[in-house]
Amino acid sequence: MALFLKLLGLLLLPWILQGPLPDGWLHFLDPRVWRRKPSREKILYLTFDDGPNPKATPLILDTLKEKGIPATFFVVGESALKHRELIQRAREEGHLLAGHSFSHRHAYLLFPWEAVREVKESQKVLQTLTGEEPRYFRPPWGSFSLPLWWALRRERLIPVLWSILPGDWKPLSKEELWRRVRRLLKPGAILVLHDGRGHPEAPLATARNLPYLLEKIRGEGYRFRRLDEAPQ
Ligand SMILES: [Zn+2]
Repeated sequence: MALFLKLLGLLLLPWILQGPLPDGWLHFLDPRVWRRKPSREKILYLTFDDGPNPKATPLILDTLKEKGIPATFFVVGESALKHRELIQRAREEGHLLAGHSFSHRHAYLLFPWEAVREVKESQKVLQTLTGEEPRYFRPPWGSFSLPLWWALRRERLIPVLWSILPGDWKPLSKEELWRRVRRLLKPGAILVLHDGRGHPEAPLATARNLPYLLEKIRGEGYRFRRLDEAPQ
């Protein structure tokens, strides 16, 4: 039994040292990771994760177009390949495309070479579809590992998390969504919503709640910016 525990410890230790331990620092404290971009003006950075999604993304793009609001889409590489036309449309309509890995697997569950591949492939897909080199990356679930971090540094990507995470991976009412956003609304906040994955009805609920939410945020005097318009 003692030997078994020792062996288990020997296996777990490297895993902890390359995953949860550095993640604790990178996720919460490392100043190189963007969480909020403090600002004197009432600016909000609107971002969407986990798309593109053929049901929710077009509705979201319609709303953003109608209101003249720019956003940043952190897309999953394999979904981007399936719905290229949505990537194209988002780009043409003035939104910023950024990476959210290739297959949306958790950093802790990847072998080092897989973590590197997740970043590289995500970059390659976006480069092919947009003709531009993506500059921002948000890891799935906001979790880092050392190999993932190394890959991001190598690709000169800016790691972006958030300061408002309202949890719209479950379908929320528009009032509840606004209540959760309002609590954390501050100049320079980075808001993350989801246009894919999660509960099957969640992306569509977010898309339908978006007009209400954006008007409420505007009602507080906020203007919207893409992440590449933030102080770098
Ligand atoms: Zn995600």
